[in-house]
Amino acid sequence: MQGKMKAVVKTKPQLGAEYLEVDIPKLLPDWVLVKVRATAICGTDVHIYKWDPWSAGRIGAKALPQTLGHEVAGEVVEIGNECRRIKVGDYISAETHIYDPGDLTSLLGVFHVGTHMRILGVDTDGAFAEYFMVHESVCWVNDKSIPPEFATIQEPLGNACFAVCGYDNDLLGKSMLITGDGPISLFAIGIARTAGVAKIIHFGKYDFNMEIARRMGADIQLYTNRTTPEERLEFIMDNTDGNGVDIALEMVGSQDSIVDCFAGVRKAGRITAFGIAPESPLPVDYNNGIVFKSCQIHGISGRKIFDTWYRDRALLASGRFDPSPVITHMYTLEDFEKGFKRMIERPRVSAKVILFPDPMELKAAKKRMGMQ
Ligand code: ZN
Repeated sequence: MQGKMKAVVKTKPQLGAEYLEVDIPKLLPDWVLVKVRATAICGTDVHIYKWDPWSAGRIGAKALPQTLGHEVAGEVVEIGNECRRIKVGDYISAETHIYDPGDLTSLLGVFHVGTHMRILGVDTDGAFAEYFMVHESVCWVNDKSIPPEFATIQEPLGNACFAVCGYDNDLLGKSMLITGDGPISLFAIGIARTAGVAKIIHFGKYDFNMEIARRMGADIQLYTNRTTPEERLEFIMDNTDGNGVDIALEMVGSQDSIVDCFAGVRKAGRITAFGIAPESPLPVDYNNGIVFKSCQIHGISGRKIFDTWYRDRALLASGRFDPSPVITHMYTLEDFEKGFKRMIERPRVSAKVILFPDPMELKAAKKRMGMQ
């Protein structure tokens, strides 16, 4: 398809992005062209928008201009001549880790962390546009009953699903500590609830997000900014018969939160490490927190491809999992600045922000969500 489209483009190595008219991407043989129905702002987009040290190092000024965004739902309008699986008209979302099938990890069935893996919207142009191009191998066909404002959140929901389930998916009747206020912590609470976790302890900081966490199913909560590490450990022990939680999800990436998780998990429990620390390495209590506890540590970078997609699609289509409390703001793509402002504001006043290239899609989504 030839022509022009609107896109949110990172043009300069400094704060901000621009809403520009650019060329519709020229299709490659094993890629597909997608008309975007909804796209969501991720923490990664905020890093790139701010152009912090991570994005300056990871992307670099030389790669600019580059279109932002990777969380997406849309309709395939054109396929490259080598595509076999995806068809024109398919309603898809995209796994953002564009894996290399030749990597050792891919050959062993672990696709999300390959040596040559590239990330949509980080290593390629992204989805904050009327159209975007994606490799056929990472397209995920959505159930048509899932509205675009839900289909677009399956990428972070996959992180939450993988964090909660771990590799053993041994959850029923267990206790879980979930730390953090971000959308993935909030989704994780809902997934844990849906999966049969019996006691969900949530540690957060901001009133706005603590309220959403309760709506998603948190049983008991504690403010980390109003308590000491000793008080938090006592709280965990008091609520787990003095044993500690079966599973602790570290989703903040701060020293305090790491201490909470390693101290608060029970012997032979599981810690899932998802939060990214601004500085690394960080100290942990190696002897008492890991070795003598005989605990399992599960690091997460991405989702289990396509296991988490398969589960999340079914949960959303069945209505068994409702993400709507986490979706707090929706705007047109043109109004992307408003979305980024909401995401950056502290104390937090938002969770998930969704953008729509077509104002009519926004209107329909607002009606479905009962938003003004
Ligand atoms: Zn994301």
